[in-house]
Amino acid sequence: MPVVAIDGPAASGKSSTAAAVAGRLGLLHVDSGALYRALTWLAVRDDLEEAEAICRAADAADLTLVPEGSTLTLRAAGAPIEHEIRSAEVTASVSRVAAMPAVREWVNARLRAAVAGAGGGVMDGRDIGTVVFPDAVLKVFLTASPEARARRR
Ligand code: C5P
Repeated sequence: MPVVAIDGPAASGKSSTAAAVAGRLGLLHVDSGALYRALTWLAVRDDLEEAEAICRAADAADLTLVPEGSTLTLRAAGAPIEHEIRSAEVTASVSRVAAMPAVREWVNARLRAAVAGAGGGVMDGRDIGTVVFPDAVLKVFLTASPEARARRR
């Protein structure tokens, strides 16, 4: 099962690179940050503080990863949530939610299942090459100059 893992600092271009590489190789791209954003969106929406409550809400929200081109995008009960998960409110809270070990386990299990179902993929995000797919055939740590990262933000 070919897995390419792309790690690196924020705004270094991980997701854009992963999507382009996946398209070129005919593999699926899974944006791990989108899953952290989805759980954060639920936490904000339902005013949840505890990791267990957030994971329960995620189980109940019927989150699915749907192929769109070579990228998997997220839906909740069939409805697209791409706009909601990119809001300023979610962006401000996502690092707090993503720091919860139970949330990370929930997301990692979904990532592994998505890639197993697709027979491989290009994944980007923190921990992808170290924790989620330690056996990835290729691990890339993508960097960019501070100027380029500032521009991307
Ligand atoms: O890549 P994106 O900015 O959408 O990711 C949102 C946030 O999710 C990151 O800033 C980080 O806090 C968290 N994240 C993470 N581990 C990953 C991917 C994202 O902790 N593998």
